[in-house]
Amino acid sequence: MKQYLLTKTEIFGIPVKKINYTFDVEEPKPMKTPQYIIIHNTGNPNTIQKIITNHVKKKHYTSIGYHILIGKNGQIYYSRDISKVGAHTYKYNTKAIGIALFGNFNKTQPTEKQLASLNKLLDILTKELNIKEVLGHNQAIYKLLEQTNKLDIPKLNPLDIANDIKYYTFLKEIDEKVKKVNEDEVTNIFNRLKTCPGVNMYKHLKEIEENYNQS
Ligand SMILES: [Zn+2]
Repeated sequence: MKQYLLTKTEIFGIPVKKINYTFDVEEPKPMKTPQYIIIHNTGNPNTIQKIITNHVKKKHYTSIGYHILIGKNGQIYYSRDISKVGAHTYKYNTKAIGIALFGNFNKTQPTEKQLASLNKLLDILTKELNIKEVLGHNQAIYKLLEQTNKLDIPKLNPLDIANDIKYYTFLKEIDEKVKKVNEDEVTNIFNRLKTCPGVNMYKHLKEIEENYNQS
């Protein structure tokens, strides 16, 4: 049996709870230099056990795909070494640290404690690792869609259209385009644009954008 055991109980001085895997999992590959931090919501899986079932047992990832998880009480869990490649954002995994907050933020709000822990992590990680950009999963996906430009989507910051009726019209428009392209890959990407990290994270992502991204 291969075991993947995390050794650290802190990340740059921030105390974390390790999640070790006592069943057959392989150590993920090393990540050269992380350039991005990508923020997620866990969506429906609301316990660590459910995430393990989803990522490791069903999807056969080497461990939980996110590097770090943040509970509703602000507890920080370390689930994958930040020096290893993650499994959380299509096309970004070799260059991004994935942080997921427990919850479905299309339905509920992140807690104050979760946001405080997130900010604490971002403060230290961006400095220590010289991170280029902190993005929501949706923003990362949007960048990708813009670059490939398969769908001829408008140039917008997806955060600018949050909580706005136009947002839904906009998503519907892209939805139509995705249906025409009809490629599993793109459909999958598009679904993520809608679901992660959820509209209730957008105002916080705006602040993050102002605080941590230079360009
Ligand atoms: Zn996500």
